[in-house]
Amino acid sequence: MRKPIIVGNWKMNKTIAEAVEFINAVDPFCHDGATYGVATSFLALNDANKAAKNLIVAAENCHFEDNGAFTGEVSVPMLEEIGVKYCIIGHSERRQMFGDTDETVNKKAKRLIKADITPIVCIGETEAQFDAGETEKVIRDQLTGSLADLCPKCVENLVIAYEPIWAIGTGKSATKEIAQNCCHIVRDQVAKMYGDECASKVRVQYGGSVKPENIKEYMAMEDIDGALIGGASLKVDSFKELIEKT
Ligand code: 13P
Repeated sequence: MRKPIIVGNWKMNKTIAEAVEFINAVDPFCHDGATYGVATSFLALNDANKAAKNLIVAAENCHFEDNGAFTGEVSVPMLEEIGVKYCIIGHSERRQMFGDTDETVNKKAKRLIKADITPIVCIGETEAQFDAGETEKVIRDQLTGSLADLCPKCVENLVIAYEPIWAIGTGKSATKEIAQNCCHIVRDQVAKMYGDECASKVRVQYGGSVKPENIKEYMAMEDIDGALIGGASLKVDSFKELIEKT
């Protein structure tokens, strides 16, 4: 039985004070029906992690090297030191604007796994790829690269977020059927790479304009084990509603 995981990806939003205030307001409402979490800026991570009792706190990125001349980057040992247990990698915004590739995502996944930090590996196609009917190929290719050469036991514990780029921040969410079909392809690709048992355990999230009004319909689909939520995770009331509905 896969425990659902619902994570708010705050992106470049919320100061330290705002993050802590939000966590204090929302944390008591978490329940055992799912794992709930927020991904904060690097700056807010330490205070957010201390404030969170029930919520899990995730980083939004990391570097794959432990240290060195990488101006502006944050390494996995730095995250480890403050007790962070989850880290988003390969978000489409990082792939599109900051040069992340399947190869660097794979290196980051390997380093995080070594530190016992759960990677939330993001994949998803562009609108042009969707229109050209290339979605399945893109999903399989991204997973082939991003999850290369990992141990099956490690892959079991991963979270994979399928986020079609055309649905991110657009209000144009994928239909539940499209989301289910793509999350099924994700699971099938994991099965091809690491076997059926591993695929049956890995948690797959849908992301892209998820909100309190539609989260239930995604969560009801067989291969969707949760959501990665941007805009609708930023307001306390909206996040509380997401918790209530799941
Ligand atoms: P929105 O929920 O704002 O569409 O963002 C999705 C996302 O990018 C989560 O990582």
